[in-house]
Amino acid sequence: MKTIDLEQLVRKNIWAMKPYSSARDEFHGEASVFLDANENPFNTPYDRYPDPKQWALKELLATQKGVRKEQIMLGNGSDEPIDLVIRIFCEPGKDNVVALDPTYGMYKVAAQTNNVEYREVPLNEKFDFESSELLKACDKNTKLIFLCSPNNPSGNSLNESEIIKTIEQFNGIVIVDEAYIDFSTRTSLLKDLNKYPNLVVLQTFSKAWASAAIRLGMAFSSVDIINLFNKVKYPYNINVLTQKYALNILNDYPKIKNWIAMILKERDLLIKDLNKLVCIEKVYPSDANFLLVRTKDADKTYQFLVDRGIIVRNRNNATLCNNCIRITVGTKAENQMLVETLKMLK
Ligand SMILES: *Cc1c(COP(=O)(O)O)cnc(C)c1O
Repeated sequence: MKTIDLEQLVRKNIWAMKPYSSARDEFHGEASVFLDANENPFNTPYDRYPDPKQWALKELLATQKGVRKEQIMLGNGSDEPIDLVIRIFCEPGKDNVVALDPTYGMYKVAAQTNNVEYREVPLNEKFDFESSELLKACDKNTKLIFLCSPNNPSGNSLNESEIIKTIEQFNGIVIVDEAYIDFSTRTSLLKDLNKYPNLVVLQTFSKAWASAAIRLGMAFSSVDIINLFNKVKYPYNINVLTQKYALNILNDYPKIKNWIAMILKERDLLIKDLNKLVCIEKVYPSDANFLLVRTKDADKTYQFLVDRGIIVRNRNNATLCNNCIRITVGTKAENQMLVETLKMLK
């Protein structure tokens, strides 16, 4: 059984501080008169501060995800837990974090915003990694490792046994970003949450749940780590509209499952169609709702599409992504427009 010394890992100021105690923290429950939070009693129901711990939403999520509600932190997108985990564990100007390259750009931005060194270990030509290589880049000041699986922008899932090895052997926190897990053939690492006290799993409402506009991200971890998140997050970080919307869509799971199935079907069709095009050299295998595609000339392909009103992501400058573009799987009509347009590119 893996153990970690949390006190040793957390920044001393964070460990020592007392969190802000809001009116809604000091009293929550049923009452008929609320005169404790300096709210204006008109404009019901938007006059009241939202539940700072979002318990109704967490209870539903806990059942769906098979975790305890105290093991969930909800954030303003995944961006919030990514930033907070760095602020909780990394002393600016001293500690560092390690991640693979290429991967999701926000880990680096969040590290640099916090003046925390960001170390990159290149993926191999299959966009996969070996735990031993990753651990070689770590030293005594490495507090966090970020892994993204399925990985953005490559689309593949990382080797699961190497992920597990990393979690088992690293004496710091491993964050596994599962933003695309619902499109994947793999199962979530949430099943191992209680086995690994140094594991943080990130998921989001932005992709499979088709709700990027409401800005809702999820972090799952040990109760102790979630309590640290709760200590440093803004008290009312998830507004009441977002909480309500998420509760509704969580109750609409069959609809979501249907959307995911449609996207997976469209992804397979798009792979077939793209493989027939002369301008496409390679379509990489995908476990997500997007495809990394190597073209003859990424800059030219990108501009050709932009000129015809179709926007994809040019990844030409990312490591191992020479002449690659990243294409999100859209509706059937959108995908067909893309393919028809690319047929005209010589
Ligand atoms: C899209 C994406 C997210 C989602 O971020 P939100 O802030 O929740 O919208 C997280 N991680 C990765 C790797 C992504 O590609």
